[in-house]
Amino acid sequence: MGSLIPEETIRQILDRVDIVDVISSWVPLKQTGRNFKAPCPFHHEKTPSFVVNPDKQIFHCFGCGVGGNVISFVMQQEQISFPEALRLLADRCGVAIPQAYTAGSSKEKLRDQAIYVCGLAAQFYHGQLVSSREESAREARTYLKARGIDLEQVRKFQLGFAPDRWDVLLEFLRTKDVTLGQMEAAGLIIPRQNKSGYYDRFRNRIVFPIFDKRGRCIAFGARSLDKESSAKYINSPETLLYTKGHHLYGLNWARETISKEDLAVVVEGYVDFITPFSAGIQNVVASLGTALTVEQVRLLNRHTTNVLLLYDSDVAGEQAMMRSLDMLVEEGMNVRVVTLSDGDDPDSFLRKYSPAAFRERLSRAETLFDFKLRVLRLRHDSVSIEGRARISAQMLETVSKFKNAVVQAEYLRQLAVALHLSEEALRFEMNKMAAGPSRPGKEAQPPKSVTAAVPVRPVERDMLRLLLNEQSFIPLTKEVLSVADFHNESVRAVIAKVFELYDKRQEVRVPDLLCCFEDQKILQMISNLIADEQFMTGDTHRFHKDCLHRIRQDRLKMIRQDILRQMRQADQTGDAQKLDELMQEFNRIIKH
Ligand SMILES: [Zn+2]
Repeated sequence: MGSLIPEETIRQILDRVDIVDVISSWVPLKQTGRNFKAPCPFHHEKTPSFVVNPDKQIFHCFGCGVGGNVISFVMQQEQISFPEALRLLADRCGVAIPQAYTAGSSKEKLRDQAIYVCGLAAQFYHGQLVSSREESAREARTYLKARGIDLEQVRKFQLGFAPDRWDVLLEFLRTKDVTLGQMEAAGLIIPRQNKSGYYDRFRNRIVFPIFDKRGRCIAFGARSLDKESSAKYINSPETLLYTKGHHLYGLNWARETISKEDLAVVVEGYVDFITPFSAGIQNVVASLGTALTVEQVRLLNRHTTNVLLLYDSDVAGEQAMMRSLDMLVEEGMNVRVVTLSDGDDPDSFLRKYSPAAFRERLSRAETLFDFKLRVLRLRHDSVSIEGRARISAQMLETVSKFKNAVVQAEYLRQLAVALHLSEEALRFEMNKMAAGPSRPGKEAQPPKSVTAAVPVRPVERDMLRLLLNEQSFIPLTKEVLSVADFHNESVRAVIAKVFELYDKRQEVRVPDLLCCFEDQKILQMISNLIADEQFMTGDTHRFHKDCLHRIRQDRLKMIRQDILRQMRQADQTGDAQKLDELMQEFNRIIKH
């Protein structure tokens, strides 16, 4: 997995730690039969579907599908890399990772450095805002005061100020022995055009540090105090730590309340977050300008499936919401939309009205169906048949994304009523959409990974599960079947690895095997197979023989069908000799 830590050490760690023990530090596990259960820490749920199997040392969630061994759990729970997770576990069980490896990969070293440098910069900017006597710093304080942000909030959210000079942060960091390369990697300085030296990225700006969920500063947003400035807000560039659209501002402070209230209010900007949060509405996060991304929704999904979108009531805000809606539905989120009165954003609204009035607005949120329909009706003519067709086409795009057929049917009914269209016609149009868009001028292309799309046949699942549970089945399986006899690509990859390990005379153990794969699909498939309790009772030997037989029969059937197809072809072209050969081959095969 690209780690420098020796395989032997990894195996030692896996031997010493117990998955139940480790996961218990984060999740309250309850024993049920052989397994342990809990509400899943990776998606929001009320009925536990997160299972830990101590025999095979794996975990799996039957709700969201995550799964793997103890290392993958720590990686996902703490959002850290493979070597980082290994080190955490090594500390726990007292395995020494040789000195040469303890620093992890060079990429991690760079990440750690960047976090350290961002932290220093945040402290510096904060100090400037709170205590600098410079005129520009005083202006910054005046500006914040005018926006209703007081010292307490400045402290809580670690707000800062970047002075109106070219290299003040750079010089400060130099005194802390930070190199120019490290400053640039953290996104804090920019090389000069003529390549001689660097200058500070943020100047004469209020600085908002962006924290990861563990509360470490990873990037900055900065608002200009210069009225002439072309960019009101600028952000850190993409760095090792920060990818645009992969974080939610404020999640580090809000996540507990979001889980508790089972609802997240998503706003646009920093101040839209700070004002409601300070007014006691603490289940709020900011998407930072852009429309919500899938990554952001998945961050939320760990805490709740209920989302309230509260964007600025201007065209840009409305468009950002419209763009997010379908994706939110696809990700299985319950979405509602709040629109404030003309021109208001959460910040300005709360300055005019009370938090109670704000909450009241939240409680009157529209369903996304109503919201989208209302916006589309304003945009298109909802009287003419053309206008209504246009509206219905866009509405159906959203409706088609609902996985629940009952919900879908209800929305179709509502749409038919609202647009005076027939329900059957709408359903017909929607089904056409599901069948795939017909792009003019382009041949229908098969999906890119045809092999990956092959569903796992039950018999392949059963066989794989048998091999993972009982190594003694491997030799006979290998004798009778080849990897190619398995149709699903993921199953093939695992079977190939199992055979390979067996050939090397290595023990095939599930936790070790899981370390061989990075593909989440494969990890999930393996953990799913193992965690399923409805299995492995009765005569497994007979069951194994039966699976072998079925897979072999399937192979022969495919060969037979292929020969028959060739025979038809030969017959059509009148190739008698070929036909005869094929016939003989066919007869030979059906004897099996
Ligand atoms: Zn889950």
